[in-house]
Amino acid sequence: MRTDIEDIVRAVSAASDLDDVLEIIVRRVGAFLPIDACRVYLTDVEGGRLVLMGSSGVSPTSAGSARAARHSGLPDLVAERREMVVLADARTHPRYVAPPETGDGRYRAFLGMPLIHFHRVLGVLAAWKAHSPFDRDEVTFFITIAAQLARVIHQAAAVGEVRRLLSGAAPEEGFIQGAQAAAGLAIGTAALVDPLANLESVPDRRSQDVVAEEKAFRAAVTAAQRELQSAGARLTDILPREVRELFDVYSMLLGSEDLVHSTIERIRAGNWAPGAWRDTIAEHARSFDQLDDPYLRARGEDIREIGRRILLHLESDIQAPRLYPERCILVGDSISITEIGGVPLGRLAGIVSRHGSALSHSTILARAIGIPAVVSLPSLPIADLEGRTIAVDGDQGRIFVQPSLAVLDAFERRIGQQAALTERLVALRDLPAETPDGVRVPLHANIGFTSDTEAARSSEAEGVGLYRTEYQFLLRETFPVEDEQYEVYRQLLQAFTPMPVTIRTLDVGGDKILPYFPMEEDNPFLGCRGIRFSLEHPEILMIQLRAMLRANAGLGNLQVLFPMVARIGELDEALELLVRAHRELLDEGQETAMPRTGVMIEIPSAVFLTKALAERVDFVSVGSNDLAQYILAVDRNNEQVATPYDSLHPAVLNAIHKITLDAHERSRRVTVCGELAGDPAGALVLLGMGVDAFSVSPASLSRVKLVIRTFTVEQARTLLETALEKEDELSVHRLLNAALEEAGVLGAGTVS
Ligand code: PEP
Ligand code: MG
Repeated sequence: MRTDIEDIVRAVSAASDLDDVLEIIVRRVGAFLPIDACRVYLTDVEGGRLVLMGSSGVSPTSAGSARAARHSGLPDLVAERREMVVLADARTHPRYVAPPETGDGRYRAFLGMPLIHFHRVLGVLAAWKAHSPFDRDEVTFFITIAAQLARVIHQAAAVGEVRRLLSGAAPEEGFIQGAQAAAGLAIGTAALVDPLANLESVPDRRSQDVVAEEKAFRAAVTAAQRELQSAGARLTDILPREVRELFDVYSMLLGSEDLVHSTIERIRAGNWAPGAWRDTIAEHARSFDQLDDPYLRARGEDIREIGRRILLHLESDIQAPRLYPERCILVGDSISITEIGGVPLGRLAGIVSRHGSALSHSTILARAIGIPAVVSLPSLPIADLEGRTIAVDGDQGRIFVQPSLAVLDAFERRIGQQAALTERLVALRDLPAETPDGVRVPLHANIGFTSDTEAARSSEAEGVGLYRTEYQFLLRETFPVEDEQYEVYRQLLQAFTPMPVTIRTLDVGGDKILPYFPMEEDNPFLGCRGIRFSLEHPEILMIQLRAMLRANAGLGNLQVLFPMVARIGELDEALELLVRAHRELLDEGQETAMPRTGVMIEIPSAVFLTKALAERVDFVSVGSNDLAQYILAVDRNNEQVATPYDSLHPAVLNAIHKITLDAHERSRRVTVCGELAGDPAGALVLLGMGVDAFSVSPASLSRVKLVIRTFTVEQARTLLETALEKEDELSVHRLLNAALEEAGVLGAGTVS
């Protein structure tokens, strides 16, 4: 049965539009089960009532006329109750209305399943039988298939909606939800990236001249490499070094033995170059697609992008120079870093792609150059979008196609508010982060790339509260050796000396998997993460600790921070390794001093061990991102559960409050380095708790400063006390937003 369901879902997923989807559902389900009629009703968005959209098991004339007829009766009951209804003899049920398209009351048994997607009833899948009741297997079949069909119907409906807009229907307020990839807002004109280069549609063809095919292929590789290099060169000045290196990595990948040789072999075996290349790319990308790890899966996407670039060069000898609109929104199936770099500077306003993730290299590049990007819009009919107006909301991961005037106005207003706020914040530049009642709260920066140093320095951060070393490890092909790490840490410590720089030991695992160190785990977020990974591989941790200690020589501003500690023993072991690294260096005659140390509290068990942990180090740092994830049992990266993931949940706030009290009892300072500290409402409650320092992304630093300079500690404490008593996160948001609004600082973080 499972394979039958998979077959139906696969056929439905491949359908070209909503009508097709519905047609396939009723036909296939009707053919698979001994039922007499199958119907799909969809909820009419305007009237909120069910409309019959697809039907099998009735005469063609009645099906035609019944289509789009409204219905009431048992299907409505299913939608109202949002649960399955199974009846052996429906005719005795008080809500029974004979199906209007037959009207003869010959169907007895009824089975109706709601089609629910993201809490919305999209419609109802119903089946009728004239004689026997539905048996258990049939019911099970419906339960299983309905859940899967809802998702496909949702996507097909979204495509239909966009097509309807494009066909001249009035512009809409509706949006298409994707995934947030790079923050910011933009309005512009869609420009499709090379729509011609569709690898999947390349046919097999016997080559007439193997030598010529091989030559053409090699020429295409060289041309794509050249193109990549010039795209990289254009962005050289504005990119962090690590991101710039992506262009070199791609260039190497393009010419890699693996890709080039297996294609040449295929050409020599008789296929023409585009067909050979298609197979090579499919083979390589597939091996990545099958991996569980999202970072590695994103590499499959990267390979396909390379595939398209080469195909384009194979398909046309002369590439006409591309003209880009004034405010260009690049739209594509997937978008490569070459394509991003190919748009003249100043013209690129936004990026929209059907595939991709927050981890794809093009997304990393978009963030680095500050271009709003939305990805993962599988239902987007990109072929119809060229030249259309698109509004990209990178803050919420959604796009508006042909937006209405009202939407455009709202966008302009938000863009204006963000600009006005920026001006207001710039005015705070030279002022200290100090409350009106004279309490100084140092603001530190969170840094991922050493090149963020510039942003952190110009944001006036008073040091680095969190340097996430894993970025440096993630964007490489191999582990960085001690000297390479030393260079990076030294540069960072020097840039901030004498201000403190907190360098966190490697925090990989979970969603951050090293491409060259694949790990297969069933529950990676509960698996070998952070300090567990480092203690599992002390040889890697030792190299890192030695590099940090060496970099600190003569400067003395290093603070070492240990992530994801769940047990006292883990911290003891990590500290022992630090002492060992220190001793080793002394023995080798190197100048080095023991640095200050800190522990991250981001796992619930650590909350209850704060006093014991704090005694062993100089400070504690709260990782509110993971703490919220583990307290609420909500994956921080899963869009489906994004709503319940909220660090302002009273349970999370109570935990941080406890950490602060316990650490203070042991006379240790408390820093918060999760996103909560960079959010104005979060900063306000943390101020009330008496948190000693905040570490936030450079972009949020001035907003937090505004909050600190507006509220006295006493005011913040009163708000905190009320917040801690609230029963859910919404009430906390309301309380804090009202306070921020009253103080005139609401726009500081909640421009919407
Ligand atoms: C956190 O969990 O809050 C944190 C700062 O660490 P990361 O976001 O890097 O996991
Ligand atoms: Mg964390």
